[in-house]
Amino acid sequence: MRRAKYDKSVAIQGSQVCDCCDPVRQQTVESESQERLARNEAFFRQVNERINDVSVPGDDGHQFLCECADPGCTERIILTTAEYEWVRAKPTRFVLARGHVAPELEHVVEREGDHVVVEKSGIAARIATKLNPRAAET
Ligand SMILES: [Zn+2]
Repeated sequence: MRRAKYDKSVAIQGSQVCDCCDPVRQQTVESESQERLARNEAFFRQVNERINDVSVPGDDGHQFLCECADPGCTERIILTTAEYEWVRAKPTRFVLARGHVAPELEHVVEREGDHVVVEKSGIAARIATKLNPRAAET
């Protein structure tokens, strides 16, 4: 019968809250995205550590990657080994191409040629310290 069929579809519609509409999740988006950005930067730092490992100390300079929060950034920065080591001396210090600074994560401590050196604050500083690839060495 027609009527029975109709009732059935109403029963199926019973309300269910989906994951994407969960209000608790939406509140944490801001700190989550800061964390994601900080992790991107930590990833580029790790790539640069590899570059530094295979570089011969004492020559004119090497191409490092910009350590900004943009995962698609392919900007290169020329640093000598000494300059790079100075940046890495502090776990919260990163080197970026000019104009790539994210003020909500970091502040500029040094401007040099085509790059800037920044230091992290807040959540980003905590993540940078936690993911420090040199933490085991000291
Ligand atoms: Zn960049």
